[in-house]
Amino acid sequence: MGRTSDVRGAGLPDITGVMISYYFVCHTKLWLFAHNITLEREFDAVRQGKEIHENSYRREKKEIELPGMKLDFVRKGDVMEIHEVKKSKKMTQADRYQLLYYLYRLRGMGIEATGVLNYPLLKDTLEIIPEGGDFTEIAEIEEDIRRIIAGPYIEPRYRKICRKCAYFEFCFGGDEDEG
Ligand code: SF4
Repeated sequence: MGRTSDVRGAGLPDITGVMISYYFVCHTKLWLFAHNITLEREFDAVRQGKEIHENSYRREKKEIELPGMKLDFVRKGDVMEIHEVKKSKKMTQADRYQLLYYLYRLRGMGIEATGVLNYPLLKDTLEIIPEGGDFTEIAEIEEDIRRIIAGPYIEPRYRKICRKCAYFEFCFGGDEDEG
């Protein structure tokens, strides 16, 4: 994970699409990830995602890395189309903003693009076309993330999603009765 060198974010990581996604999932998760606290189950989930990607889109070029972005694959046409592969639709809002963030970063580099969320296990796709105000909102979210990760550790608050979270043991010591 790259580190910023500006004074405002000294020692803190660059904002990435994954952080945008975690912003919508859980701020504790966002804080832990931003501070390089990653757990084995997280890597399992990433590996699973990679397997789905590789098995479903064999013909596509794999993962393109740009600052703050890991694009699953790209299709060129009149307008560039960037694709993100997801296992399920459980986190659609987080996934949508992650992809919007990539489109926002690409626009900042002078590249216009549209996005597609791919759900190979569901045989479905969702097109993401930025609408008026989306990028302003993304810029505000980016600022809010900087504020959150520069602040102190955020105490976990138990919710249903915690049971499937890689940080469950870290947050609750494996106590299945929380909440
Ligand atoms: S276990 Fe729950 S509180 Fe802890 S990081 Fe995961 S989602 Fe957030």
